[in-house]
Amino acid sequence: MRIALFPGTFDPFTNGHLDIVEKGLGLFDQVVVAVGENASKKTMFDLETRMKWISKCFENEPRVKVTQYSGLTIQFCNEVNATFILRGLRTIGDFEYEKQIAMVNADLDPSVQSVFVLSEQKYTAVSSTVIRDLILHGGNYAPYLPKAVTIDVKPV
Ligand code: ADP
Repeated sequence: MRIALFPGTFDPFTNGHLDIVEKGLGLFDQVVVAVGENASKKTMFDLETRMKWISKCFENEPRVKVTQYSGLTIQFCNEVNATFILRGLRTIGDFEYEKQIAMVNADLDPSVQSVFVLSEQKYTAVSSTVIRDLILHGGNYAPYLPKAVTIDVKPV
């Protein structure tokens, strides 16, 4: 079985992320969306909320699993038997950053392959950072978020 890990912060999970998972389902048997818990990274939404949103997005898709993790992504791949890391690319900036991470991961464990999926044009401007700004300052964020991602909770 081909299992891909899709790691990220997902603060919050956007239509861009959703698109990458859906494309991943065309390539792999199972996609594990792994919400990273990074002590040094302060998020707007807590881990439980971020996981709940993603689970809701895929409640009718048994080939998507949602989980949390901390520590090295490559180690977590071994824990869930993922032999691929799925990441999305929007811009050349994403590429430079992702390439660096992928090279180090390949050094750490060459049996896990990084696979990059291009963002659709309409999602290239969508980032969690911009959406957090919209949420904070009362902008219309709804077009960029899946329906399941309801901002009814008070940001932490
Ligand atoms: P991280 O903190 O690990 O970068 P993110 O939640 O910001 O986590 O992103 C997770 C993955 O989703 C990354 O591979 C990122 O490039 C990708 N991604 C983010 N936004 C989009 C988008 N709009 N279209 C396609 N991929 C995206």
